[in-house]
Amino acid sequence: MASIPSLAVSGGAVATAFRAVLAADAHKPPPGSVGFDKGNSYQGSTQVLENGRLEAPPRPLDAQEAMAMLKEGQSVQSAMYVPLLHRCIETGSLGGAKALHGHMVKTGTIVDIFVATSLVNVYMRCGNSQDARNLFDEMPEKNVVTWTALITGYTLNSQPVLALEVFVEMLKLGRYPSDYTLGGMLSACVASHNIDLGKQVHGYTIKYGAASITSIGNSLCRLYTKSGNLESGIRAFKRIPDKNVITWTTMISACAEDENYTELGLNLFLDMLKGEVMPNEFTLTSVMSLCGTSLDMNLGKQVQGFCFKIGCATNLPVKNSTMYLYLRKGETEEAMRLFEEMEDNSVITWNAMISGFAQIMDSAKDDLHARSRGFQALKIFRDLVRSAMKPDLFTFSSILSVCSTMMALEQGEQIHAQTIKTGFLSDVVVNSALVNMYNKCGCIEYATKAFVEMPTRTLVTWTSMISGYSQHGRPHDAIQLFEDMILAGAKPNEITFVSLLSACSYAGLVEEAMRYFDMMQNEYHIEPLMDHYGCMIDMFVRLGRLDDAYAFIKRKGFEPNEAIWSSLVAGCRSHGNMELAFYAADRLLELKPKVVETYVLLLNMYISTGRWRDVARVRKLSKHEDLGILRDRSWITIRDKVYFFKADDRSHPQSTELYQLLETLLEKAKAIGYEPYQNTELYDSEEDGKPAAGSLKHHSERLAVALGLLKAPPGVTVRITKNITMCRDCHSSIKFFSLLANREIVVRDSKRLHKFKDGRCSCGDFDVRNMDPLLALSTVGG
Ligand SMILES: [Zn+2]
Ligand SMILES: [Zn+2]
Repeated sequence: MASIPSLAVSGGAVATAFRAVLAADAHKPPPGSVGFDKGNSYQGSTQVLENGRLEAPPRPLDAQEAMAMLKEGQSVQSAMYVPLLHRCIETGSLGGAKALHGHMVKTGTIVDIFVATSLVNVYMRCGNSQDARNLFDEMPEKNVVTWTALITGYTLNSQPVLALEVFVEMLKLGRYPSDYTLGGMLSACVASHNIDLGKQVHGYTIKYGAASITSIGNSLCRLYTKSGNLESGIRAFKRIPDKNVITWTTMISACAEDENYTELGLNLFLDMLKGEVMPNEFTLTSVMSLCGTSLDMNLGKQVQGFCFKIGCATNLPVKNSTMYLYLRKGETEEAMRLFEEMEDNSVITWNAMISGFAQIMDSAKDDLHARSRGFQALKIFRDLVRSAMKPDLFTFSSILSVCSTMMALEQGEQIHAQTIKTGFLSDVVVNSALVNMYNKCGCIEYATKAFVEMPTRTLVTWTSMISGYSQHGRPHDAIQLFEDMILAGAKPNEITFVSLLSACSYAGLVEEAMRYFDMMQNEYHIEPLMDHYGCMIDMFVRLGRLDDAYAFIKRKGFEPNEAIWSSLVAGCRSHGNMELAFYAADRLLELKPKVVETYVLLLNMYISTGRWRDVARVRKLSKHEDLGILRDRSWITIRDKVYFFKADDRSHPQSTELYQLLETLLEKAKAIGYEPYQNTELYDSEEDGKPAAGSLKHHSERLAVALGLLKAPPGVTVRITKNITMCRDCHSSIKFFSLLANREIVVRDSKRLHKFKDGRCSCGDFDVRNMDPLLALSTVGG
């Protein structure tokens, strides 16, 4: 699974909001001033002349006047440069700054500490930190304002490490930092993620009695919350006597980014209102995002009302997070309405819609709903591409994950092309999402190509590719890639080991599996989880080494789950060890299974062995657990369209042709060795006395395959997703279809990926013994 930031969008919105809060923060001087301490400002200060008389402050000039005076060569006062320097900042004119610099040197005004300091600031704000530093070094005299200008300037120019160095330099020279210096330093620590130095600066703020100054306190809150230390952030927060809107917003938005602090965030918001501090749009955006996490529609609506009241309902981040809340709450129509009404949306808006639909798709109970949500996401993406807006990283990773889930290869390929066009292909997150998409769509070659071409790889990418090989029945490639990964210095995690062990299990490589199982614990200190045990036990079951499987189950500190007991039951059955099978079945029933397939497995076993009392017991339990019915559904994408099939579906306009094609294929298949699955078990029936799903021949995936063979262009792989596991008979017949039609057919069912080619399946038929045909009988078409 590619690393798609959870709540990416609201997180992004908060980040944007946060940047704006940062920009608006009080400790940061407005453009044009260097955060001069009071009384240090040149303009407006009164000067005491030698004779003790006060001279009126120089009249503030505008830029034109100043320029004119300089040109006329009147006696030059430093103050004349001030409006011109401001102008350079406003227009970002580095050339202008350099010209003024030259002029100051000529007139000798450069020795004026105030003017020179202003020029350091101008260079920094025009993005030229080197000239700022050169000038700084040439200054014969420097005061704390000069030092601060250099420090905040480096942070502004994304060179926080240099800022930190200057700060250390300053302290070594015995200079005392001002509140502004400390505030600037804290910002540098936040920007460079240097929490240790940040803590030291925190010490200074206490030493200089500055910790209770609101702007410094705000910086401390930001330092701790941004470094993931929310508890320390809260402590710093509590020590601020005069909390302003920035203080509250800093903490609330920090809570909005960590799901564990949702409640605290909402409580802080209430406290803020009680303290009569007026929230701003950034606060409200974060609160909306908190409502999104806690799915608190009620509060969300109140906040929405509040936004109207204070007039920020039309503010884009507020609108985005409101829309996202409706989406998360499943109120898609309202969300769509808000979306369509927005005239001035941003890419964040589009991302919120796409990832919102992707999330409800993933959490949808019902496959049909999931599909339709996925479609909406794809449609919104298409509209985005047509609009003037440019998709970004989050857009691509969300939409590619939608394609993976829907197995929409064609759309995925188009998006791949988009990533090349927009230059996002080089991004590791997008690239990982691509590898994942190709793997999930059964295109191992494309996935490999994308993987090989990646300039850098993350743990997620390595793991995704190892899992891809494992799923595609290429265990040796998976193992080789794991070894390459270690050589490349990447550190595997528990998910990597699941894929690796599953590859070993698939290939029956007992020795390797044991070695990796030990390596995981001893070298990487990862305690085995259920899935790791599952792979090992599965392997022994497949090899018929039931005693070894049982020994593994009996390991200390391990409680097998439903899937593992089921695997053992199925394995024992197929290897004829009924004693162990019945024992495992009893343990399985003690767990009160939750999966319908488990009941089918048990029913099959008890019916075929004539244990009617157990049959009744299983039936009773299954009723009690109220599992609903297994619904058999398949989807196939052909070109841009998706077709949906139930079992025995006759709703497709070409269904006569489809059924005819299936008959023909089955006849041909029988001629070359296909044996339809016949078993007395088939006569078990539902209470109304007739089989619920009709014939095995018309399971949904077969109808989908028939349509694919009929309509997909020659040579194109037929790709199908199925919501439950395939049955043995479908699996076997589709192997023959792939041979007869000379076509690659990929079916991704709820358990794994089957790639049928030339009469074989990539799964190696290992799971087939778990695919009981009785599934058909407890499966309902409608
Ligand atoms: Zn079937
Ligand atoms: Zn298979």
